[in-house]
Amino acid sequence: MSYGFTCTKCGSSDLDYQRLARVTEPVIIHPDERVEYGPTTIDNTEEFEADRFFVCRECGKRLQIWNRPATKEADLIEYLRMTPEQRTKMLHNDLDYLVEQMEAELYLQKAKTRMTGNDW
Ligand SMILES: [Zn+2]
Repeated sequence: MSYGFTCTKCGSSDLDYQRLARVTEPVIIHPDERVEYGPTTIDNTEEFEADRFFVCRECGKRLQIWNRPATKEADLIEYLRMTPEQRTKMLHNDLDYLVEQMEAELYLQKAKTRMTGNDW
C-alpha cells in the first residue's frame, strides 16, 4: 500500500500548494488611445486560509474533504489517511452532502423566521 497523494481525477502523484494572490498591473492610456500595461505587482500581503488549496499539479483538481477544500496541513493529513475507497466514495457522496447542508440551512432559516416573527 502506498502512502501518499494520488489524484482521484487523473492519477498523478504530484501535489502543489496553491496560494491565491492579487496580481495587478498599472494601466497607461496614451493620447492615441493605445493602452499599455505596466509591471506586474503581486500582492500577497492579504492572506486568507480559505485562499489556500492543495491541488493536483497535473489537472489542478483541489483536494476535498467532503464538501470543503483541504486548506491546512491537518486537512492534507486527514485526506491522506483516508483509503482510496473512502476518497472515491466521498466524491460520489458530494451531492448528497450538499443537499443535506442546504436542507439544514433552510430549516435554520425557517426557525429564525419563527423566532423573529418575520413573515416572508
Ligand atoms: Zn489530477
